[in-house]
Amino acid sequence: MELIDGKLISQTIKDELKERVAELKKRGHSGSLAVIQVGNDPASSIYVKNKKKACEYIGIGSVSYELSENTSEAELLNIIDELNNKPEVIGILVQLPVPKHINEDKIIRAISPAKDVDGFHVENVGALCVGERGFVSCTPAGVIQLLKRSNVEIAGKHCVVIGRSNIVGKPMALLMLRENATVTVCHSKTQNLKEICKSADILIAAVGKPRMINSEYVKEGAVVIDVGIHRDENNKMCGDVDFDDVKDHVSKITPVPGGVGPMTIAMLMNNCVEAIENR
Ligand code: NAD
Repeated sequence: MELIDGKLISQTIKDELKERVAELKKRGHSGSLAVIQVGNDPASSIYVKNKKKACEYIGIGSVSYELSENTSEAELLNIIDELNNKPEVIGILVQLPVPKHINEDKIIRAISPAKDVDGFHVENVGALCVGERGFVSCTPAGVIQLLKRSNVEIAGKHCVVIGRSNIVGKPMALLMLRENATVTVCHSKTQNLKEICKSADILIAAVGKPRMINSEYVKEGAVVIDVGIHRDENNKMCGDVDFDDVKDHVSKITPVPGGVGPMTIAMLMNNCVEAIENR
């Protein structure tokens, strides 16, 4: 069994991006990522802090908007509109989830697709679907990098994705299809989940259930990617995969923490650099 080291791979990607940013600066191109947080959910605050730190590391600017919990939808839409029109802002990110009185879909659609570095706007999702250029959702894009940089062959392989959410499962399936895998998407209504998973050469778990995927779901020698992030009853971090149970049956596997997790921010930074290059 070989561990896929997301920490190392994400660091390599950030170092490559740092060089690209330095080159862009020499040619007079730069820009900032605008990060908007509504309310002060502690988990969101950590994500926002890490995103700003990553911007600093690769050498792009960041501006943050820390808005109170009772900010209205109209106020938020106004801020997005202003940022859409600011040339120095190359990317706009609204940290999700937003408070319940704000319509998340409306917010995502208000962000200019050219600045939608999260890759959530329907225009970018549509571009991925028909094979055009656009921003790709960061977590699934990170999984592709993990596989490629670990020399996992994707073309022609059977890939099973467990989960069909808009930010992970669906774009993940589309990306694996783009890489010429034969893709099966499983979800909460899937019958014979174990049998289907057991036929996967590459199994990607984005199911949101702590340690649900054990060795009964895994084919001998499969590559297993664990997108899940949870804290168990002992406050220990774990994924959707029961790592200890499956590790002796796989050829390669991502750990939690240190697998998919660190890739999300690296790919966000990648999208920001692309946004500067696209201008
Ligand atoms: P979600 O809850 O939106 O989606 C879960 C999906 O799993 C759904 O499509 C559902 O149909 C499917 N599902 C639920 N129960 C199932 C079952 N018993 N059998 C088969 N399918 C089932 O979650 P999400 O936002 O896609 O996130 C998935 C996991 O990835 C979560 O653990 C989340 O914390 C994690 N996540 C990690 C990162 C990262 O940066 N590593 C980013 C986003 C999400």
